[in-house]
Amino acid sequence: MTFHQAGQRIGVMTTEPVGMLDYLAPEGGVGDGCIVICPLGPRRVMGVVWGRGDGSFDLSRLRKVIRVVDAAPLSDELREFLGRAAEYTLTPMPLMLRMAMRAPDLDRPPAERKIITRAGPEPSRMTEARQAVIRVIAEHGGASFAPSELAQLAGVGSGVVKGLVAAGTLAEITAPKDLPYPRLDPGLPGKALAPDQAEAAGSLRRAVASGSYGTTLLRGVTGSGKTEIYLEAVAEALRTGRQALVLLPEIALSAEFLDRVEARFGARPGEWHSGVSRSERRRLWHMAGQGEVSLIVGARSALFLPFRDLGLIVVDEEHDSSYKQEDTVYYSARDMAVLRGAVASAQVVLASATPSLESWVNAASGKYGRLDLRSRYGEAELPEMATIDLRVENMPGGQWISPTLARAVEARMARGEQSLLFLNRRGYAPVTVCRACGEQIGCQQCDARMVEHRFQNRLVCHQCGETRAIPETCPTCGVEGRLAPVGPGVERLAEEVAARFPDAKTTVLSSDLFGSARALKETIAAIAEGDTDIIIGTQLVAKGHNFPKLTLVGVIDSDLGLQGADLRAAERSFQLMRQVAGRAGRVSGERPGLALLQTHQPDHPVIRAILSGDDEGFWDAEAAMRQQAGMPPFGRLAGVILSHPDAAAVAAFARHLADISDPIREAGAELWGPAPAPIARIRGRHRMRMLIRAPRQAALQQAISDWLTPVKLPVNMRLSVDIDPQSFL
Ligand code: ADP
Ligand code: ZN
Repeated sequence: MTFHQAGQRIGVMTTEPVGMLDYLAPEGGVGDGCIVICPLGPRRVMGVVWGRGDGSFDLSRLRKVIRVVDAAPLSDELREFLGRAAEYTLTPMPLMLRMAMRAPDLDRPPAERKIITRAGPEPSRMTEARQAVIRVIAEHGGASFAPSELAQLAGVGSGVVKGLVAAGTLAEITAPKDLPYPRLDPGLPGKALAPDQAEAAGSLRRAVASGSYGTTLLRGVTGSGKTEIYLEAVAEALRTGRQALVLLPEIALSAEFLDRVEARFGARPGEWHSGVSRSERRRLWHMAGQGEVSLIVGARSALFLPFRDLGLIVVDEEHDSSYKQEDTVYYSARDMAVLRGAVASAQVVLASATPSLESWVNAASGKYGRLDLRSRYGEAELPEMATIDLRVENMPGGQWISPTLARAVEARMARGEQSLLFLNRRGYAPVTVCRACGEQIGCQQCDARMVEHRFQNRLVCHQCGETRAIPETCPTCGVEGRLAPVGPGVERLAEEVAARFPDAKTTVLSSDLFGSARALKETIAAIAEGDTDIIIGTQLVAKGHNFPKLTLVGVIDSDLGLQGADLRAAERSFQLMRQVAGRAGRVSGERPGLALLQTHQPDHPVIRAILSGDDEGFWDAEAAMRQQAGMPPFGRLAGVILSHPDAAAVAAFARHLADISDPIREAGAELWGPAPAPIARIRGRHRMRMLIRAPRQAALQQAISDWLTPVKLPVNMRLSVDIDPQSFL
């Protein structure tokens, strides 16, 4: 790290669109990576010391850094990672830097802070507002909060919090600034591992101990002990004094995971995701930089934390599409984890029962190591799988549970076992149609149909979130009482289940039905306890929960994911159905679980691959098809998305961009489009897309940059580039 004496020229990467600017180092000097506050015009802005500065400004005209923020400097490793990630994703550096500076109140670190904590019994006078405050604290496991944050989370005024302090229910205390996390002890004994588990764990331990970079695909069916094994890699990182990061796709679902960490290492890890309070996030960010937290469990953005010495990154469920961010900065956390691992000389473990084709191919080519766990741990076996051919079942209109599936559910109920009915569609019905005029109710802002959510009694646009009350009369023809739901969603399926199995206890698991992460966790825990007969769920249930009494999985519509122009339709549907089917276990010693797939296409290659359990065969075939078409991971793709309130303006501008796309062709790549995006309008903005396909070795980013950097965007035009797109909508 270079140190700059007071008054020397330094280059500061600001988090403003201007990016890098030269300043004079402040009194006392400053080192590379330090976070500083600088003057910019009349404003103060934040930035990071990046080096000596490029000298483009006369020294005598430079302004001085105002002050250095009290935080650990961003390491060389992190700055290099951010630079390379910015280059790869074609993200302006200031935006990328912001990803790493997401500590609340970073610019004003309090030496001490006031926090509110639970201190006494409930007040004698209870109001709804007071109840809300008390509930927030309870829902966060008795955590303490800054007064304003608590009021905000509870949706009440600050007076309510003050009132509760006066009543003695809460207390305001002065807390020291951010405290280190309790130490995790890698010396505690882990579970005794089965031979193939021990072999895999040993291999990961040696890799971590080497202190160098490497990526390993850890593959094994759900329940084979992948978590158990990568926790051994975490233990090794802790032993060598380096930090570890575990990324999970749906962090809300990690209660069970945190318990396992605590059981293994004697303390809980740091948590980083949107459900964590501001003060906790602040604390975690600072402790990561000071090396005072050794294991962090987080959502994708945890990858940008300022670790002091990161030695291991685990990406669990590495195939999960939520690792791809498609907003402001377009990036894949899985791919960026590999990049950060390489920069940090850290080991990367990609864990999955159904890896992405990319990781599969990388492992096959030897770029990644590969560890395979062949069986479930202990007794459990993979479920039996079979299709239910909907073409021959007797299905009354408006019903989605076939007689065969219904009988299987009844048999489980008779034995006190659980069944899961899986339908990957939130809401009551995907389409609401007017029987008088035939019109479907659409969103006014988007080219999307409104989805009926009966529990909330509203129509919801799944594109933009716009909602409105379910109308009595058709908005198009004005006829009353003829609007009808078409097709099933989980809520409607729940209705059918209630009518069909009146004695069953049912639970619907759908992301929109839970007000808080804690409520969801509690429901999941209750299901695991056996407190339900039939679970009705969206893909929320596909993630790794253990429901010991669950022995039957019925997939209501296996055809949903098979169609579609999406490059990954087959891959996704294979992964999802595999994961869901894997939920069915055997109750100790009994017959194995059963998965039944309702389909109109029992002979579809994806369905057949799922049934036969031949994933190697499926992946080989899928890889061969992609290779032939020059598609990822054998070729490269980039999406270019334009949007503007005016349809003609965006079409004309897209044409213009295509006309000047010589740099793309010169790089040996092809430009497809422009064409209206499949969802041609979102939130009132018209959208056009282009797709670039390049050979694997082409300098794709450079070509796009040569093409688009000189372009000046018209007013109100938005342009995004999506390298390695996952979504083509
Ligand atoms: P995966 O991550 O592959 O789904 P887990 O690591 O969650 O698998 O293991 C599945 C279940 O089996 C967990 O409850 C876990 O504690 C248990 N398990 C796995 N390996 C062992 C072992 N060697 N000894 C005891 N329990 C184990
Ligand atoms: Zn909408």
